[in-house]
Amino acid sequence: MSDLDRTLADVAAAVDEARLWRLHMEMAAFGATPRGGVCREALTPEDIEARVLMAEWGAALGCSLHMDELGSMFLRREGTDPDAPPVMTGSHLDSQPTGGRFDGAYGVLAGIEVLHALNAAGIRTRRPVEVANWTNEEGGRFTPGVMGSQVYVNPDELPRMLAVRDAAGVSIAEAMVAVRAALPGARPRALRTPVHAFVEGHIEQATLLEESGNQVGVVTGIQGTRKFRITVTGEDAHAGTTPRRRRRDALSAAVAMVSALERMAWDREDECRFTVGRFQAFPGAPSVVPGRVEFAIDLRHPDDAARRRIGDQIKPICEALAGACEVSVVEPQAADTVWFTGAVFESVRASAARLGIPHMELLSGAGHDARNMAAICPSGMVFVPCERGISHNEAENATPADLAAGTRVIAQVVTELACG
Ligand SMILES: [Zn+2]
Repeated sequence: MSDLDRTLADVAAAVDEARLWRLHMEMAAFGATPRGGVCREALTPEDIEARVLMAEWGAALGCSLHMDELGSMFLRREGTDPDAPPVMTGSHLDSQPTGGRFDGAYGVLAGIEVLHALNAAGIRTRRPVEVANWTNEEGGRFTPGVMGSQVYVNPDELPRMLAVRDAAGVSIAEAMVAVRAALPGARPRALRTPVHAFVEGHIEQATLLEESGNQVGVVTGIQGTRKFRITVTGEDAHAGTTPRRRRRDALSAAVAMVSALERMAWDREDECRFTVGRFQAFPGAPSVVPGRVEFAIDLRHPDDAARRRIGDQIKPICEALAGACEVSVVEPQAADTVWFTGAVFESVRASAARLGIPHMELLSGAGHDARNMAAICPSGMVFVPCERGISHNEAENATPADLAAGTRVIAQVVTELACG
């Protein structure tokens, strides 16, 4: 057994399942909902409490705290070479308004457990190890999501993101004042500070692992997305007096568009994810012919060419079915499929095999911060099962054993890359 093999065995053995579970239960107290979930939207008082707890844990573990201008936090355990870029792990502590205890929190808490394990095993790495909590991954209160990692890799976007406001009119810049006040010991971290490698732990949010009896998912990549906003404009009219031939009914047109689009996006393989998640008619009165409809499309497909082909048909189909109305189609967001190849992916796969953990390779259907980080360093993800795939839901659940299995893999990946 080589020295590195022994170190990797030590760090995995030092991962403590019961301690990791306690970290989850303590964190879940912030924003706890009566139905067992959490409501911890980005930069709210609950999110700030969670951040303070993370900072306290980091201090107790001998780590320094760093924070960038959008509030993303980094707990840093020094290596023997202070100038080497760190190996980073982590995810996000913010949640959906009716979120669960594991989405995001798992990746951060697995990182905290890795710090515990490194300390307990007395391991000194060459590179620093950092645990990240990315700001506003969920994008519920402030849009868009995965904002912290996006700004970290694209610092030019900082001013635009600081100006983003929530529904109550509070900007991120304004919300950040309380975050800074709560974390006075945080040292400033420059955006795009080099990172050697990034690995993110996350619950799967689907059922492939559970159905196949695997404990760890070696994530091959994250499927690409295209998001569209469609506005159909007709004319408000009296429901009792306006004959069909005089109507410019935006709802009728929009319904025809959605059914045609669903037929167009249908595929035998069931690979295409086509969702109309928002559909609103205005003015929304029972006796008024709707003069305006707004709807949003979330389109995802792992194959870039297929996603391009399907997405490119949205505008022409909407235009063809507008009838007496006008339609505008905008695409505020698009991302190609990211494939995790390279050192992190290889290390995740090798570690799961070395530890004898039942594992499989899978593509992530959901977006994650690792997608952004892949632009600046080798990146990868470790998935663990969640009960019946339920997520973005207060009932979200995972087992202590599965969480620990994934954390052992992350501990080995971090240690291997930080020793290299
Ligand atoms: Zn998440």
